[in-house]
Amino acid sequence: MNISPFLENLPVYQPGRPIEEVARELGLDPDGIIKLASNENPLGPSRLGLAAMRQMLKQVNLYPDGNAFYLKQKLAAKLGVTPANLILGNGSNEVIELIGHALLVPGAEVVVSQYCFAVYPIVTALFGAKLVVVPAKNHAHDLDAMLAAITPNTRVVFVANPNNPTGTTASREELARFVNAVPADVLLALDEAYIEFLNEPLDLLPEIRSGAKPNLLLMRTFSKIYGLAGTRIGYGIGHPDFIAALEKIRQPFNINSVAQAGALAALDDTKHVEKTRKINSRGLRLYARTFRKLGLEFIPSQANFILVRVGDGQRVFGELQKLGVIVRPMGGYQLPEWVRITVGTPKENKRCLEALKTVLGQK
Ligand SMILES: *Cc1c(COP(=O)(O)O)cnc(C)c1O
Repeated sequence: MNISPFLENLPVYQPGRPIEEVARELGLDPDGIIKLASNENPLGPSRLGLAAMRQMLKQVNLYPDGNAFYLKQKLAAKLGVTPANLILGNGSNEVIELIGHALLVPGAEVVVSQYCFAVYPIVTALFGAKLVVVPAKNHAHDLDAMLAAITPNTRVVFVANPNNPTGTTASREELARFVNAVPADVLLALDEAYIEFLNEPLDLLPEIRSGAKPNLLLMRTFSKIYGLAGTRIGYGIGHPDFIAALEKIRQPFNINSVAQAGALAALDDTKHVEKTRKINSRGLRLYARTFRKLGLEFIPSQANFILVRVGDGQRVFGELQKLGVIVRPMGGYQLPEWVRITVGTPKENKRCLEALKTVLGQK
């Protein structure tokens, strides 16, 4: 077979390790393992979402509503945009792939930051486009340098804010300047997977409502604060013309009915979201305080995870795993001395920190 040459050097995405897999491999009881590796919601899905999904299970013999009418209506009302501004994806990862289909051809350039989300380079390579990696500044995006890296061949700039895996966030002023400076023929794909965790995020929805920035696509997800990662649902918010192009590409039933029902109900569960924000900020403070005490370098985060420098990241990851705590090693991100820890419940955080102290011999 003549497999596409674009696949030859394509990196394979390395996900956080599933609890069952680790249990099988190490002969551990899955109930005794905690996973703090994929920035999932430690409180679980919203109870309202869960009830709606249970109800929907009775109808899984039927195809879902391919246009997700009710969910788009509700999201549009919540965001103050129209359904024509919205594209739903099988996770926002699918929205990233749709962008590739819409804009990337061999010779096209994609600008990202060092330590960017791993899916951007994968999608860039998948379409044979050229990745332009801009060195980070203090582990954060250097937005001025990213602007300077744009050439006439640039088609897409990806910015995650907050960024995963670093947890860094651009200031509102800096980000606003950047949004205004990106040339009109370059898509700015602004990944806001963690925006709900920020206290005062820059609100770019006015740019969408006014239609003033046709080259801006905001991407959000139900995987993180809404606790629906397993159902796979995310969305893009953009100009109706670009959304219409993405709609041509997506598969007719890309969002399953259970995901639609769960997301629809979860949008009403403001208590669940507020509770998640609260335990998250407490957890972040606990990690920061403890890392300081232990003399460990870390990157201040406003997301639901934190990057900490532990020496040999792969070793610490392996040792923590033996103690039933799954975190994320960062070798694949050129950060071999670091691990990324998702903020869990208070109990999980405590257990993770105790295990870390044991592994680092600080007990
Ligand atoms: C988790 C994450 C996503 C969301 O992925 P889904 O496909 O919606 O689960 C998108 N971007 C970044 C930067 C993420 O960390």
